Amino acid sequence: MSNFNDIIGFIKNQYPSKDFIPLHEPNFTGKEKKYILDAIDSTFVSSVGAYVDKFELMMADLTKTKKSVAVVNGTSALQVALRLSGVGTGDEVLTQALTFIATINAIIYNGASPIFLDVDLDTMGLSPNAVNAFLEENGEIREGVCYNKKTNKKIAACMPMHTFGFPVHLNELMTVCGKWNIPVVEDAAESIGSEYKEQPTGSFGKLGVFSFNGNKIVTSGGGGAIVTNDIELGLKAKHLTTTAKVPHPYEYVHDEIGYNFRMPNLNAALACAQLEQLGSFIQNKRELAKQYNTFFISKGINFRTESTNTKANYWLMCLELENKKDRDLFLKETNDNKVMTRPIWQLIFKSPIYSSYQRDAQENALFLEDRIVNIPSSVR
Ligand SMILES: *Cc1c(COP(=O)(O)O)cnc(C)c1O
Repeated sequence: MSNFNDIIGFIKNQYPSKDFIPLHEPNFTGKEKKYILDAIDSTFVSSVGAYVDKFELMMADLTKTKKSVAVVNGTSALQVALRLSGVGTGDEVLTQALTFIATINAIIYNGASPIFLDVDLDTMGLSPNAVNAFLEENGEIREGVCYNKKTNKKIAACMPMHTFGFPVHLNELMTVCGKWNIPVVEDAAESIGSEYKEQPTGSFGKLGVFSFNGNKIVTSGGGGAIVTNDIELGLKAKHLTTTAKVPHPYEYVHDEIGYNFRMPNLNAALACAQLEQLGSFIQNKRELAKQYNTFFISKGINFRTESTNTKANYWLMCLELENKKDRDLFLKETNDNKVMTRPIWQLIFKSPIYSSYQRDAQENALFLEDRIVNIPSSVR
């Protein structure tokens, strides 16, 4: 007899046609095939094409930003966004240890070091209080630039991540970072369509980044986007991600060491069809979240919901269990019963290759690491 039988039963009832219930599967019930066939017919399947242009306009519109650039995946979008925010070799970037590895790798690809700061218990994302406390102790402004007194390195950016689509406390974070002259780059890879005080996540920082990987709410197979309200930075992002080629009808002249990070038109076609459905997907997921919430309240289990002033996209829904023992039992029983569940990420610094970076006490991150699990969240 399973301890979690009724929970397993409830989840199975949400997806009655499935034998195995995945965590998050893509949904292709819109114009996906039409647009992809159209891209093939046009012969523009690769690095330029009408769907890339359309996708960039759709993303700028959706995020209420002035410029969007389509790239090959979210990780490379983060890498370039950090570089454009001013992060370079030897710099430091404030971020959270409770995140997917891409957040941290993008910092390291730029030759910079992450500084791991704690998250808030309610948002599970970077805590403005933790950032403030760290800067009060370690920060020093020299000629308008923030330095870490302990390492003498420039603190070149702050990168919050909106965990599972729940926005961090953006007003407070923007205020702290503003006070210390630190540009913010939002890792909004998981939070497309989420809002903080009715403004889209990704539009608060100097630059924001999204992912269109297959497990996200909307997918292009693989893909990413950089958004910004600074048109000049947006144009630079396009330039850098398309080999930094100086426009010319036939000559090859490159004025910087750029990247081939372009999103193929074929993938952009899929992305356009998916973005058209984002609103209905989120509505559908919010309905599921409501049903989960009612059910889990009746079980005395903490189903995580959006905090006040925010609207979450409920990308991956989650429970906070009593302790690690409960969590481990839950993971085993659900997965044994073909209901896919997964723990939140291991804190990044626990892996030896990332253990040498500066960090704070991580009280909340450690608490959440032991207790948060994701449950099936696909659009039904
Ligand atoms: C998905 C994701 C990314 C980007 O991943 P890609 O697979 O490279 O598109 C970055 N950060 C976070 C937190 C993510 O969840």
